[in-house]
Amino acid sequence: MASLLEDTMFLMKKYHIKANKSLGQNFLIDENVVEKIVEKSNISKEDLVIEIGPGLGTLTSKLLEKAGKVVAIELDKKMLNILNDRFYLYDNFSLINQDVLKVDLGKLIEEEKEKNGLKNAKIVANLPYYITTPIIMKLLEEKLDLESITVMIQKEVANRLVSIPGSKSAGAITYTVYFYSIAKELLEVPNNSFIPEPEVTSEVIKLDIRKEEPVKVKSKKVMFRIIKCAFMQRRKTLLNALVNTKVFLNKEEGIKVLKELDLSEDIRPEKLTLEDFANITNIILK
Ligand code: SAM
Repeated sequence: MASLLEDTMFLMKKYHIKANKSLGQNFLIDENVVEKIVEKSNISKEDLVIEIGPGLGTLTSKLLEKAGKVVAIELDKKMLNILNDRFYLYDNFSLINQDVLKVDLGKLIEEEKEKNGLKNAKIVANLPYYITTPIIMKLLEEKLDLESITVMIQKEVANRLVSIPGSKSAGAITYTVYFYSIAKELLEVPNNSFIPEPEVTSEVIKLDIRKEEPVKVKSKKVMFRIIKCAFMQRRKTLLNALVNTKVFLNKEEGIKVLKELDLSEDIRPEKLTLEDFANITNIILK
């Protein structure tokens, strides 16, 4: 049996493909990693799987064996012939040639689930790294009818996404991920699992979407805005960051709010829990 590396080289040669760096094309050639992603995604015939960036179809071919339906979204036109040639015999495969950030995923999920009588929708992908954050934010903030998101991303970003609010490596995005999901790291993936090799180490993470929101807050939009302002000036204290960005009208107001919540005047943003930010929001909106 040919190895995944040989299959990949063969397809690239046959279809005259050169990996396009600006589209984040790093193709998986490690069978074990592909197997692990599929296994951890926990896919059944009752699932709709949306794959972002199928590329040459390495992951797609395994997903098709397990899922009720796979909808693959690929921006690069050069991949379309390959994918259609490889999977035209599968009646549970469809391909959308679009930028994933522009796809109405809510509508897509609703229609595909209904048309195919499927129970759950899951995202599985080896993401293009140049747009990891906007993709994750879209998947979470659009409140899609999703059960889980299993994705390969840069390890550095993974660490930030899965860290716990209130811990040292937390950033603004940590709070968004925590609000919408329970995140875990699954597998570190070395650079030589891809061709061409990416310049950064990779990691597979899984986000299980929460059924209930973990904090009560008057306005999510305002809370996330406050979190963004707090982390815009990471080296500053929370108080200074929120005064500078006009979340607090002035220092006196800020000190009053922090006192009411038993938070120190010189606390740094990453020390706050999600509940702390929800409380600040609720006081400001009172
Ligand atoms: N799934 C393949 C694999 O694992 O070998 C390829 C993964 S590669 C890291 C990322 C893929 O995302 C590429 O095929 C690339 O063309 C595609 N891509 C890049 N930007 C995209 C976008 N905005 N929307 C959809 N797909 C995109």
